[in-house]
Amino acid sequence: MITASPHSRLSSAAAGWRELWRDAITDSGELLRAVGLGHRTDLLPADDAGFALRVPRGFVARMRRNDPTDPLLLQVLPQRAEHDQVEGYTADAVGDMASRAGQGFLHKYDGRALLIASGSCAVNCRYCFRRHFPYGEGIAAASQWRDALARLRADPSIRELILSGGDPLALATHKLNELGDGLVELPQVIRLRIHTRLPVVLPERIDDEFVSWLGALPLQKVVVLHANHANEFDAAVDAACARLKAAGATLLNQSVLLRGVNDDADALAALSERMFAAGVLPYYLHQLDRVQGAAHFEVNDSRALALMESLRARLPGYLVPRLVREVGGDTSKRPL
Ligand SMILES: *Cc1c(COP(=O)(O)O)cnc(C)c1O
Ligand code: SF4
Repeated sequence: MITASPHSRLSSAAAGWRELWRDAITDSGELLRAVGLGHRTDLLPADDAGFALRVPRGFVARMRRNDPTDPLLLQVLPQRAEHDQVEGYTADAVGDMASRAGQGFLHKYDGRALLIASGSCAVNCRYCFRRHFPYGEGIAAASQWRDALARLRADPSIRELILSGGDPLALATHKLNELGDGLVELPQVIRLRIHTRLPVVLPERIDDEFVSWLGALPLQKVVVLHANHANEFDAAVDAACARLKAAGATLLNQSVLLRGVNDDADALAALSERMFAAGVLPYYLHQLDRVQGAAHFEVNDSRALALMESLRARLPGYLVPRLVREVGGDTSKRPL
């Protein structure tokens, strides 16, 4: 199903996900005009602080018109505050550079290895550590995944392979298929987990070819989505989730706690309820990684804990995410 907004240059019936990806909005003025804020020149950022604006039109169509505080808009529109130098906010907030074993292969936690499968995303989220990540050659998909598969073969303790990025579903399905072929020859790897924002920001990515590949893969499958607000879900996202489930995947969601976007109990409760309606369970609610340029999104820990208290009081336990922070050198995400 195609949900290109009326502003798209594409005829929606004919467009595949690659075309929709390329048709994304990359200009602040155009984005503001698309949501009825073209007259608000005060909202135009002076520049993109070194991290390009990028947002698919289908996601823009879910933004409220004429509302500069829209929670989806705030996630993607560059802001002047990104230039603020704030102590403790650095380019490598989670210490990934230290744990890189090489070629996009991260082995920080027992039993799980994480591949930086791709450096691209369909959307550029302003709070993301990726704005500083030197992807360069460190992408695991290079050379038919040879390096990653060799590392997995050499370490039988790794039971689960996590595809992350960037967005791993930026890769063509035939590229994922190469990896799948290698994985099925490694009996110790029983589970494939895919961390992706694409089913939410570009649900057309979950196309027939991908779904039949995933469905046929003889592994346990987990897809961890990334949505931060209930408004990110619409009928096309519901359909993508249903297809993933039908292909045998367990669906989880991780969110980032973001000031002005989802830092109130009503918004977080609505998010949990909405994702559950799409067949998705909440997994993590992340405290922001302290990346340079994102400090204006920070919610302090005492407020975050109070929000969790209030969620526990009003939601069934299975709809309450775990509040965590990633701390370099820890053996797991750190619960707050
Ligand atoms: C977050 C992360 C994982 C997965 O952790 P879970 O708690 O199992 O979700 C694995 N490896 C790395 C490097 C990570 O950053
Ligand atoms: S890695 Fe995830 S959070 Fe970061 S820009 Fe890509 S989609 Fe957004």
